[in-house]
Amino acid sequence: MELLRVDAREPDPIVIGRAADELKRGGLVAFPTETVYGLGVNALDERAVERLYRVKRRPAVNPLIVHVADVPAARALVTRWPDAAERLANAFWPGPVTLVLPKRAHVPDLVTAGLPAVGVRVPAHPVALALLRACALPIAAPSANRSTELSPTRAEHVVKSLGDEIEMVLDAGATDVGIESAVIDLTGARPRLLRPGALDPRRIAEVAGELEFTRHDPDADAPRVSPGMMERHYAPRARLVVVGHRLGELARAHELAALVRARGGRVARLDFGGLRVEVDVARSFAAQDAEGVARVLYDTLHAFDEAQVALILVEAPPEGTEWLGVRDRLSRAAASE
Ligand code: AMP
Ligand code: MG
Repeated sequence: MELLRVDAREPDPIVIGRAADELKRGGLVAFPTETVYGLGVNALDERAVERLYRVKRRPAVNPLIVHVADVPAARALVTRWPDAAERLANAFWPGPVTLVLPKRAHVPDLVTAGLPAVGVRVPAHPVALALLRACALPIAAPSANRSTELSPTRAEHVVKSLGDEIEMVLDAGATDVGIESAVIDLTGARPRLLRPGALDPRRIAEVAGELEFTRHDPDADAPRVSPGMMERHYAPRARLVVVGHRLGELARAHELAALVRARGGRVARLDFGGLRVEVDVARSFAAQDAEGVARVLYDTLHAFDEAQVALILVEAPPEGTEWLGVRDRLSRAAASE
C-alpha cells in the first residue's frame, strides 16, 4: 500500500494523477471526502467493485454511493432527473447530500446491491473533486473501513483498518463534516430521507419539499427502508451506551461503569457537560452545536478504541431536528449485533 500526503486545499496534480491511474487500472484507492474517508473504485468496473465488497467484508445487500464530478456526470448515471434533484443539487452540491435515482443499465447491479436505483453525489473535498476530474470516471466509494466499524475521519484510521489490502491512501488530514452524507430517495412520490447527515433535515425540506422519514428503531421489526439502515453500524470496538437524562438511565450508567471497572475494564465518557459518571477517560464536546459535534464524534470514538476502553458512555444529544444525524449514528453504534 502506498500512503501519499496531499494538500487538502491544493492537491498536487502529480499525486492525483497517480491515484487516478490506479483507479483506471481497477485498483482500490482511499481518499478524503468532506464527510469521511472513502474507499474508491471505478464504479463501472465490476471486478474492482467485487473486490471492494470483499475487502470491506460488506454484505452484498448494502449498496454503494457513486461519486461524480458534477451534475452532468450524475445525470449520465440515471434515467430520471426530477425537479427535486435539480433543486437539491443546486442547493447542496458539491456537498454531503446523496440522491437516489433510477439507474441506467450500464451502472452495474453490484453497485446498487441489485436495486433499480443508484445513490449519487458530488463531494465537496478538493482532493475528491480533483481525483474525479483526473480519472473522468464515476467512483463508487463507501467509507474506507471494514463493514460495521466506525468510519475513518483520518488516513491513519484507514491504514489501520484496511492498509494491507488496498493499493493507495491519499492523506489530506482530518475530514470536516465527520459523519456520512444525508441520503435522499427521489424515486417515490415524495422525497424520503433514508439516512440523516450532519445537515439539518429541515434545510433539506426547505429545498425538496416535505420529507418522508422512517425513524430508525433498532427494536422494531419493520421492513428496512434502506439497506444498511438498521443493523449495527458505525460502531466502535467498545460497547457504547447512550445515556439519557432520566434518573433511571443515569443510575444504570453509574452501575454499568462501576461493574466494568470492578472487572478491570476501562470506561470512557463523552458528554455535553451534563453526565458525571466516574470513568477512566473523559471528554466533553467543545462545540455544542450539531455540526461541531458531528465533526469530532468518530474521531473521539476512534481515540477511545485506541485507549482500549471496554465501555463508552455518551450523554444523549439534544432533541432538535439538527441532531438527527448524530443521534442516528449513536443509536446504531449502540445497537447490539
Ligand atoms: P456508506 O457508503 O458506507 O456510507 O453507505 C451507503 C449507504 O447509502 C447505504 O448503506 C444505504 O443506506 C445508502 N444507499 C446507497 N445507495 C443506495 C440506493 N441505491 N438505494 C438506497 N439506499 C442507498
Ligand atoms: Mg460505511
